[in-house]
Amino acid sequence: MAKESIFIVEDENHIQELLKYNLQANGYKVSIFDSGEAMLEECSKSVPDLFILDIMLPGMDGLEICRRLREDIRAKNIPIIMLTAKSEEFDKVLGLELGADDYIVKPFSVRELVARIKAILRRIDKFSIDDSEIITHGNITLDCARREVYKNGNLIEMPLKEFELLKLLMQNKGKVLSREILLEKIWGFDYYGETRTVDVHIRYLRQKIEDDDNNPTYIETVRGIGYRFSDKPAK
Ligand code: CA
Repeated sequence: MAKESIFIVEDENHIQELLKYNLQANGYKVSIFDSGEAMLEECSKSVPDLFILDIMLPGMDGLEICRRLREDIRAKNIPIIMLTAKSEEFDKVLGLELGADDYIVKPFSVRELVARIKAILRRIDKFSIDDSEIITHGNITLDCARREVYKNGNLIEMPLKEFELLKLLMQNKGKVLSREILLEKIWGFDYYGETRTVDVHIRYLRQKIEDDDNNPTYIETVRGIGYRFSDKPAK
């Protein structure tokens, strides 16, 4: 299974080390940033599965980072855990209703933090077939309710069948879907077209979402079977 990735903004060295060591030991892919500015810059390329934000930071504070993430189409549904050092900050997190999913007060137990992370990611996972969801992988974002696809934040025009195909693949990230299954799910039981229809639509999709459609990194061909949306962490 792919490692879930976590972006952390924290300026204190020993906490950076503590988090990095323990979260990696728990199987997460961890990226640490000293500032919100640096992390938001990285988010313009790829977004993680979860954010951990310290509040007191030089430059942009954690509350501001949280606010910006919640305004970002690609990041707005990604869970955020705030690290608070003081009870005043804690009150602020609650009071401002910034949309953070959880908070933990410093000094914290790593075990507790890991338990919170697991609980949040499990909850998200459970809703991953919800039709109102936003699915993001690398620089691709799918807004299911609005039926829109974005690459690097730019809207991509896409016919409905292609959209449905991409959605099904992304909802089943990491799983191989056979041509027959795709044909049945997207085109319906009554469609007696050849499975080649699937291949043709996959080709169109790749032209739209891949950086190089001759060397696809999102939609992988599984020879003799079908296709799989890659669950490898995006570069
Ligand atoms: Ca700090």
